[in-house]
Amino acid sequence: MTQAASPDTAGAAPVMDAEPRDIAIVGGGPVGLALACQLLRTTHWRMTLIDAATPARAARDPRAIALSHGSRQLLEQIGAWPVPAQPIEHIHVSQRGRFGHVKLHHDDYGVPALGHVVKYGDLCQTLERALARVADAAPGRLQRVFETRIAHIDQQGDRGERENAALVRLSGTTHVDQESLPVTYAPRIAIQAEGGLFHQQVQRLARGTEVTRRRDYGQTAIIGHVNCSQLQPGWAWERFTDEGPLALLPHEDHGVPGYALVWCCAPEQAQRRLALSDAEFAEELGRAFGTRLGRFTLVGKRHAFPLGLNAAPVTVSGRVAAVGNAAQTLHPVAGQGLNLGLRDAFALADSLRAGCTPQALQTFATRHRLDRAMTIGITDLLPRVFGIGGPLAAHARGASLAALACVAPLKHALARQMMFGARR
Ligand SMILES: Cc1cc2nc3c(=O)[nH]c(=O)nc-3n(C[C@H](O)[C@H](O)[C@H](O)COP(=O)(O)OP(=O)(O)OC[C@H]3O[C@@H](n4cnc5c(N)ncnc54)[C@H](O)[C@@H]3O)c2cc1C
Repeated sequence: MTQAASPDTAGAAPVMDAEPRDIAIVGGGPVGLALACQLLRTTHWRMTLIDAATPARAARDPRAIALSHGSRQLLEQIGAWPVPAQPIEHIHVSQRGRFGHVKLHHDDYGVPALGHVVKYGDLCQTLERALARVADAAPGRLQRVFETRIAHIDQQGDRGERENAALVRLSGTTHVDQESLPVTYAPRIAIQAEGGLFHQQVQRLARGTEVTRRRDYGQTAIIGHVNCSQLQPGWAWERFTDEGPLALLPHEDHGVPGYALVWCCAPEQAQRRLALSDAEFAEELGRAFGTRLGRFTLVGKRHAFPLGLNAAPVTVSGRVAAVGNAAQTLHPVAGQGLNLGLRDAFALADSLRAGCTPQALQTFATRHRLDRAMTIGITDLLPRVFGIGGPLAAHARGASLAALACVAPLKHALARQMMFGARR
């Protein structure tokens, strides 16, 4: 099944794909892998999945990701579940030092868990195995290409729907024996699933403009594994502090139970906190979070990620579509980025059953618009609303949380959106 870019085909001129495919997927992260799996299962298209790195690199990524129950159901469909995971059975949302909180419980929604916390690397490995199985059952339909970075995607203009016509041209470089060689692929449609680094390209393709929906929240996320003296298994905590949201997700690191921390704060505070000793960091974390979990004890290696909203205004242009972080990078509040990305992938695969055409891509964009807009809207609104300073605003937020806790239909609607997205 696996076919890496081969030195035999290399030369001074760009290496053309000998056998043009229907679909080229750029990016074999979790979204690209899930999309390839679902396309192999539900369509007859032949495809190329191109990644700048190797699966071994993704497997080492220790980032903890909260997957919703809805995402688990999608992964089950493609045989990519179970993943080593910690269940989230209850969620506690509150404001640091203010009144008002909301609790969500899995049995209120008839699900075994509201979500699960997995390691990015474990998820990618499980998806790789699922893809290998489904590709074995569909011989010749999947070409894998590693260590190949796509730099440009050009559309050749719409010359009508002809079988095997070269309508999109992807060009980039492949690494063979420490050499960098030019490559070109010519599929009928291209899917951008290369994560958040390529937005300029999406913009040019999509609208002929650099305009995008961007927001700098003035926050950086500190992530790492922490432990505490009073573990509460199954509980996840989302605490809005004056500096930004602070999340603790049930998580095991090398067999050590504890929490995955996502602490959003001003970039200069993040830099300062990264430089603290473990003991100083644990103490400061305790001051920000409160005493509900006792004392923070063990603190693992910390990393910082700058935060911002970066969303393409449209996700489809002609024969090119974007999914996952290539279409939108979100604030990590409520952990929605990959959950939305998986729904992108499944919605796109569903539309592509009708044909490998611009119309099918437009159907995807139209059907998926509401879910995308709602998820972007909520994850953009929360950090801004909870970032407004002053006692009056804090009071209003406390009242809103208290109201949310009491008005069951409202609470349930929000929980369902977070678990399953907006369903039409
Ligand atoms: C700290 C942190 C915490 C998070 N927590 C959560 C959470 O709790 N829940 C949640 O749902 N989401 C969370 N996210 C978001 C989540 O990580 C992303 O939404 C998800 O990884 C997006 O997957 P993707 O496949 O679209 O992109 P990526 O994971 O970025 O994968 C992109 C792939 O494309 C490849 N690639 C890149 N450029 C090229 C190129 N030019 N040519 C070919 N290949 C290329 C890369 O090698 C990579 O394999 C979090 C993110 C961060 C940073």
